[in-house]
Amino acid sequence: MGVDLNDFLCPVCLDQVEDLKQTFINCRWTQGFWLKVSQWCDLNVSNFYSPDSTLDWIDFKWEKRKERRLIELIFIAYINIIWEHRNGVSFDKKETSPDLAFSKMQDDAYSWISNRANKIVIDRSLWFQSLHKAVSL
Ligand SMILES: [Zn+2]
Repeated sequence: MGVDLNDFLCPVCLDQVEDLKQTFINCRWTQGFWLKVSQWCDLNVSNFYSPDSTLDWIDFKWEKRKERRLIELIFIAYINIIWEHRNGVSFDKKETSPDLAFSKMQDDAYSWISNRANKIVIDRSLWFQSLHKAVSL
């Protein structure tokens, strides 16, 4: 009887021991997903170092409250999709491509904003093309 080291590996890529940094930043799947999100948001950053530092960066970059809340909401949708994907692979053996996950994240974020922020009106078709086309940031 022994400990199976595979039980500690990231269930998504099986490359590294799973921890927060692996799941949300270093995992190959997460990096592919982040690339899609950063292109859509037109962010000039190749990666981020931790969820904490990203929230600090959001506060710094977007001074206006409305813009900051929008970006924070997208970031929450982003984290949520990574966690859903990780659990889907772990418990249901269900793989989702970064492209499909990205579409779902856009859809989730759009629904959350449309239903919660009644002062923000966003064109749905522009939203899926480019965040900056849909919202003037
Ligand atoms: Zn991984």
